[in-house]
Amino acid sequence: MTAPLIDPFQRPISYLRVSVTDRCDFRCVYCMSENMTFLPKKELLTLEELDRMCSTFVDLGVQKLRITGGEPLVRRDIMTFFRAMTRHLESGALKELTLTTNGSQLERFADDLFAAGVRRVNISLDTLDEQKFADITRWGRLPQVLRGIDAAQKAGLRVKINTVALKDFNEDELITLAEWCHSRDMDLTWIEVMPMGDIGNEDRLGQYWKLSELRQTLGQHYTLTDLPENSGGPARYVRLEETGQKIGFITPLTHNFCESCNRVRLTCTGELFMCLGQEDNADLRSALRNHPGSNAALEDAIRAAIRLKPKGHDFDYSRQSVDGRVSRHMSHTGG
Ligand code: SAM
Ligand code: SF4
Repeated sequence: MTAPLIDPFQRPISYLRVSVTDRCDFRCVYCMSENMTFLPKKELLTLEELDRMCSTFVDLGVQKLRITGGEPLVRRDIMTFFRAMTRHLESGALKELTLTTNGSQLERFADDLFAAGVRRVNISLDTLDEQKFADITRWGRLPQVLRGIDAAQKAGLRVKINTVALKDFNEDELITLAEWCHSRDMDLTWIEVMPMGDIGNEDRLGQYWKLSELRQTLGQHYTLTDLPENSGGPARYVRLEETGQKIGFITPLTHNFCESCNRVRLTCTGELFMCLGQEDNADLRSALRNHPGSNAALEDAIRAAIRLKPKGHDFDYSRQSVDGRVSRHMSHTGG
């Protein structure tokens, strides 16, 4: 049996997030600038390479794959890749195949995703107001995403909504969004905005809405019960006693969740980031491309990378300047 991936801090690595493209059909203001430059296509891992890469991680004990981007569903023929991963679900090696999407293409792909074995999907949506949606995503249109959500639920996919908490933007929708998610039987997770990438003129500190504040306001409307942590991830959950629904908070900046981190991230160009908040990465693409006939070099490169997984990240807004800033975009590393 192959030894599982364990990092220097004794954390087993069982979760891989894979960015399959840096491209997107939206231009969310906190994620990209409007005239974002994308990578030349030849830099990207091909679908076959993505398959080999993910399958090697599964061989090494990864049990959960989350496909992300950019917008994963705008990558040409991406369903071929999802269908290829089905074999790992069928063998039992992979416990979950899932994705994070902006929802724009779900009307087209929800049934195919379900057929490939996907059962849950995270859909990003920051507002229920059409004009605000167009403003924040620049190129996105709310009705299209709502149709995508309908299609996902109709196909049998469990939906979780991810909402970036933005001061003076969606503070006033805290309760509306909770009620809307409840009415549709969807979980909701709020995410603090992170200092990733050069996004033009946006002011990170101006955008930053602390989730502790958000939680406090939510507590004025509902009785909150903290739920025990079990995801190994950065989310903390509360239950709203009045409705029974679950609300998550991802607080990379105010809560240090690194001690239970079980994940690594593969970019669309084959770099492995051991931590979202650090620049350190390993080039797995060379190990893959230089050894087309065998995965031994790739396995060695993965193990060597995991040995370098840092203890934690250094994002810090507490000194009222954006410290620990990371120059690459979220769409490159995959959110
Ligand atoms: N395009 C897909 C989507 O929007 O869901 C997947 C990729 S996107 C980079 C993944 C998640 O990262 C989204 O929920 C998005 O809102 C979030 N995100 C992007 N930039 C962020 C930032 N600077 N801080 C916090 N979250 C961010
Ligand atoms: Fe695209 Fe997702 Fe970034 Fe928005 S957050 S620009 S949808 S990658």
